[in-house]
This record gives sequence, structure tokens and C-alpha cells, in this order.
Amino acid sequence: MSQNVETRVCKNKKCQKVLPAGYKNKYCEACKNKHVEKAKKAVKSIGAGAVTVASIAIVVVKGGKIKL
Ligand SMILES: [Zn+2]
Repeated sequence: MSQNVETRVCKNKKCQKVLPAGYKNKYCEACKNKHVEKAKKAVKSIGAGAVTVASIAIVVVKGGKIKL
């Protein structure tokens, strides 16, 4: 009995659900969905952050550091 079958579990430490053989994802289906939600929220907050950075940059430029 030396079958080299890897038992893979969900990467979420709080989950640790055993993933089915041949399953390609690191996270189980449920955690993957949660990740998608998180990613979407992250993109939104990054978007808001980018706007903030952009307005700071405008203030710096207006502050006279760059004169054209
Ligand atoms: Zn999971």
C-alpha cells in the first residue's frame, strides 16, 4: 500500500477541508467564493486609495514643486 496519493486540504487554516483528488484549487469551493468576494472588496478599496493618491499628487504639483 504505497500509493502516492497526496491528501490536500484547503489552504484556509480555519477550514482545512480535504480537497477532492484532482482538484486544482488551493482553497475549497466555499473558501474560493469567499476569496472572490474579498478580492472584489479589495479592488474597490484599492480603487478608492488610488483616487486619494492621485488627489495628493495634484496637491503636491499645485504646491509649486513642479513648475511648467
Ligand atoms: Zn476551505
